[in-house]
Amino acid sequence: MSILRKFLPDPPQNNEIKITRASLELMYNISRELAAALDLRTVLNRVLFLSMKNVGASSGSIIVLDSSGQPIESALAIGERIQEQTTQQLRATFERGLAGWVFRHNQAVLIPDTSRDERWLRRPDDEVDRTGPKSAVSAPISARDQLIGVMTLVHSKPGTFTQEHLALVQAIADQAGVAVLNARLYAESQRQARVMTALAESAATITATLKLDDVLLRILEQISQALRVAVVSLALLDPSGKELVFRASTGPKSQDIIGLRIPIGQGVAGWVAREGRGIIVPDTSKDTRFYPGVDQLLGYETRAIACAPIRSRGQIIGVLEALNPLEGSFDPDALLVLTGIGSLAGTAIRHAQLFERLQAAHQRYRELFEDSIDSILITDWEGHILEANRQAALLIGVHTDKLLQMTIDHLNFVDKNTVGPRYANLSMGETLSYEATLQTHSGTQVPVQVYAREVNIEGVPHLQWILRDISERKNLDNMRNDLLSMIYHDLRSPLANVVSSLDVLETLMAEDADPTKKSLLNIAIRSTERIQRLTNNLLDMRRMEADQPISNQAEATPAQIVAEAIEAVSIMAENKNQAVVNRVPLEMPEVWVDVDMIRRVIINLLENAIKYTPAESEICLGAEAQEDSVTIWVQDRGPGIPPEDRERIFEKFIRLHPEEGPKGLGLGLAFCRLAIEKHGGKIWVESPEEGGSCFKFTLPIASKTDENRTTSS
Ligand code: ADP
Repeated sequence: MSILRKFLPDPPQNNEIKITRASLELMYNISRELAAALDLRTVLNRVLFLSMKNVGASSGSIIVLDSSGQPIESALAIGERIQEQTTQQLRATFERGLAGWVFRHNQAVLIPDTSRDERWLRRPDDEVDRTGPKSAVSAPISARDQLIGVMTLVHSKPGTFTQEHLALVQAIADQAGVAVLNARLYAESQRQARVMTALAESAATITATLKLDDVLLRILEQISQALRVAVVSLALLDPSGKELVFRASTGPKSQDIIGLRIPIGQGVAGWVAREGRGIIVPDTSKDTRFYPGVDQLLGYETRAIACAPIRSRGQIIGVLEALNPLEGSFDPDALLVLTGIGSLAGTAIRHAQLFERLQAAHQRYRELFEDSIDSILITDWEGHILEANRQAALLIGVHTDKLLQMTIDHLNFVDKNTVGPRYANLSMGETLSYEATLQTHSGTQVPVQVYAREVNIEGVPHLQWILRDISERKNLDNMRNDLLSMIYHDLRSPLANVVSSLDVLETLMAEDADPTKKSLLNIAIRSTERIQRLTNNLLDMRRMEADQPISNQAEATPAQIVAEAIEAVSIMAENKNQAVVNRVPLEMPEVWVDVDMIRRVIINLLENAIKYTPAESEICLGAEAQEDSVTIWVQDRGPGIPPEDRERIFEKFIRLHPEEGPKGLGLGLAFCRLAIEKHGGKIWVESPEEGGSCFKFTLPIASKTDENRTTSS
């Protein structure tokens, strides 16, 4: 009622009472009409018609604004007709015309003659001789101290409206305010609900698959449906992060666009990828960001674009583009929906990519597993075989299905000493390796090198057994051993004959014999000594490998053994102009050794040193006593031994560069290790700072009791 006071002078006259009654009825009708509607458009249309009718206006408009003062909805009636799609049209009026003035000043205005008022935005139709508005009333619509819109009523004749009309329009506007506000809030909540529903539906559909191509397709479908557009495309950033690559598209030219590259920053898509926020370009011809190159390429015409980034874990990984809305222009929510789907798409694409990568890795692992030339078994901690590759089935001679019903105990290759009871030693995470004999299905025995370790499969600890078939290596070793024993047996007795014959010859040869003959005899003697040393080494190796003890140990002076060894190789060293420097102290504790064997060890090391040291260089021998052992070393100026080979050169038949360098059998160091270890010592190689190799070994110091004890083994 207080509203009416504004235009009801006090005390009321007769005709004023009529106005009051008519106004009261009007207000009552308005509030009743408005209370029944929640839809913003209906509310606006009703308010507009009621107002026009009551002030006798020929046309009218209402513009509704959001909280930032931007027009979001409107109603425009010309005569009896309601115009559609007017918000955009009224924007100019609002920005530059009367409605804008009313809004900014929050004040109702009466314009008796539009041609004389600056606040009126003149249009061609407003000319005196045309039918456009000549008089106008405009009032702000507010509710709860908030300005939410402007209502403007016009007439084609000047001076149509009075102050009373203005007061009435203001009263209606005030009355309508709450209804408009409610309807606006309702529309907002409806809008949000629509957006949320669209996003929820999209989320459910997009995440229902993990196949990347499917995910992309579903993203496009969801956008097409939600935004009602002619074409949707999706581009992902390439790994360099400098280009977008189109990965999927709908529409007639979809195949042509796939694979197309756009640099970051170019076109609307490139702009969105760079700026990291979505945009709507309602008219591409008016936006400089639009790049027509793609249209030209595809023979397509893009009128309007909505584009939003695709994000995954805060990073932009691509963009979504929706082109040409089917219903003319984009809905105000289009960007909200597109941006929402962009976030969903990011997660879905990432999951699908990870899943594809996982599958590819799994496939690779499967192929490696299946194609491995080694047999691989996966068991649980009870030894049940859970997986077996092709090679395992082949080696064991059982079909994989049958293998999966067996335990590894059936195969006899588990070395309890190495892996411990119930495989306990494997729980440390280390790979344990040992040689074993596999029992195949047909009963044959296959020598294998076993590599066992714990592996984690899907969070559950399992055991992995790799079985390398070493039959060939074993056969080769056996052949070599057979060959060696054959050589040794067949050489031994003729060699003994040669040695004794040479001895006899030496004693028979007169003091003053021909020096050439003497020298030749000398060469023959030394060469035979070498062959004898070699055969003795082989004999000793066989004995020691068969765990036989060293039989003839005695006290000996290190300096003496070293001197004899140097003497044996002196001609070899002289031939290469090498100096063999003996730094072994004369005064040293005696060692308890098989002198002949240890002399051969030192000769072996010296021969290697001479072989691998360049001519005219120096080889040095030294020794040092510890509490109960003596360390002797042979140091050369050769190429040295790489750290990774320092252990394995002591194995039988190991030669580092068999194709180049001096020839050999790869047995010398193996003999040395066997001999030294049988004496209770150690042998190893170091690389001195000055280069070359330094082979060192220890020998036990002779004690009083040694003479009586049997040799340690
Ligand atoms: P062989 O000398 O008959 O080949 P060895 O068992 O004596 O066999 O030595 C094994 C391998 O170790 C050799 O082939 C060589 O590659 C390497 N080696 C041994 N001694 C030396 C050394 N002093 N300097 C460099 N390499 C050596």
